[in-house]
Amino acid sequence: MRCPFCGNVDTQVKDSRPAEDHVAIRRRRFCAACGGRFTTYERVQLRDLVVLKANGRREDFDRAKLERSIRIAMQKRPIDPERIDQMVSGIVRRLESLGETDISSRQIGEIVMETLARIDTVAYVRFASVYMNFQAVGDFDRFMSELRPQESPEV
Ligand SMILES: [Zn+2]
Repeated sequence: MRCPFCGNVDTQVKDSRPAEDHVAIRRRRFCAACGGRFTTYERVQLRDLVVLKANGRREDFDRAKLERSIRIAMQKRPIDPERIDQMVSGIVRRLESLGETDISSRQIGEIVMETLARIDTVAYVRFASVYMNFQAVGDFDRFMSELRPQESPEV
């Protein structure tokens, strides 16, 4: 695995252990060239997913991108980072089990919102407000009234 700091390809695994309730293997890596340390995750990938974007373009599904947008929505929320990893894995598993290789970005957005709505209302609203376009604002109220969060938000 190439070092993300200096580009050296010869990095060493210092520690490997199960993560996310044995869904992933977490490896701590060390680069002898620059002394950099970083972490990689090994996960099962059932299917190579392709995202159909609203503008008609296709691009390879990127788990890191999905995770980033969820972490942004979850910022400063009282949620264990490990829980977020599990959530992302759950979403990816759902996408893979749709049985299609091509998945629309809209479908992904809906699954993410559904998942967030069950876990954290504030994160859900943050994500939804970014994700949804103005045309869908009417539906947004309905979404909100249908929410049954497990914990009450502080905001
Ligand atoms: Zn390095």
